[in-house]
Amino acid sequence: MVRIMVSSSKVNTMNASTAVATGTAIGIDIGGTKVMSALYNDKQQVHNLLRVETPDSADDFIDAIVAMCKKLMATDGEKPTCIGVSTAGTVDVNRGMILGATGNVPALQEHTNLKETLEKALGLPVYVENDANAAAYSEMKLGAAKGLRNVVMVTLGTGVGTGIIVNGKLLHGKNFVAGEGGHIALDMDRQRLCTCGRWDCWEAYASGSGLTLTVQQMLRAMPNAKQSRMMQGRDAIVDVTTYDLVEAFREEDVLAQEIMKVWHRHCGEGIGSLINVLDPEMIVIGGGLAKFVDLDLLKQEVLARAMVNDVDLAIAALGGNETGIVGAACLSLEHFSEQSV
Ligand SMILES: [Zn+2]
Repeated sequence: MVRIMVSSSKVNTMNASTAVATGTAIGIDIGGTKVMSALYNDKQQVHNLLRVETPDSADDFIDAIVAMCKKLMATDGEKPTCIGVSTAGTVDVNRGMILGATGNVPALQEHTNLKETLEKALGLPVYVENDANAAAYSEMKLGAAKGLRNVVMVTLGTGVGTGIIVNGKLLHGKNFVAGEGGHIALDMDRQRLCTCGRWDCWEAYASGSGLTLTVQQMLRAMPNAKQSRMMQGRDAIVDVTTYDLVEAFREEDVLAQEIMKVWHRHCGEGIGSLINVLDPEMIVIGGGLAKFVDLDLLKQEVLARAMVNDVDLAIAALGGNETGIVGAACLSLEHFSEQSV
């Protein structure tokens, strides 16, 4: 039995000046720990937000999504005409299928054909998109990059994701793996093995787990590590977390400052490479670690590596709760309204 949490808050995401397709869609955001859904309308409002913990069992997973959608479809006054899903994993957007499943959501290994499964169960057309792409799209539609058409969003979280928008359209590539920017190789001389099996991918340094490794590596190399605020209340270096780092950094711990500088350099390495390939109008930084980014410091590190004289960097404007829902719902409304023209 899956318990659905209901939030009654109505979020007005931004001023309505960007043209979007009309109507209402259900937006669904599938994450490793929770699945969220809400109604999203052409007044750019997200409302009736529902949330469940991501079920481990494949059947419970679909049951939970269907139950949430049925609840939203029964909302008085506002009838959704389509569904947009933002999910981890590589997505064939033409067929609405998960091609490369993610270990974070085991149920997706069994339910690869999300579009067909949900359309059969709910009777509404379904559009499925990768979560980093959906987030990038929502930032271009309503967030930090509103009004721009060439945007790269970098999501710094458990991993590093990128969503690439060229001339207002998401770049998917032939095999739908465009935007796997987290696997750009850094010049690190085989220090860290990435989850993909290759050495020294950007993700192995700039992600949360990459930063944790950097913290522990640098603490081990410091003779005075025990005096750092990061070690207060910790028995061993291996117990120190990114939160300890950030707290110590805010208290102006010298070692924490040094580590943060190195992390910004790691982030700058990948962003510099992305700029050299794509030369976007803006790079938007999102994900759980975005709040720890010092944009001035990052800009210095990026400019040292990019073949441009200036870069526009911004922190994502939409909250973590809405970004996948808004992106997926917008894409779904646009996709199905284009089809009906
Ligand atoms: Zn990799």
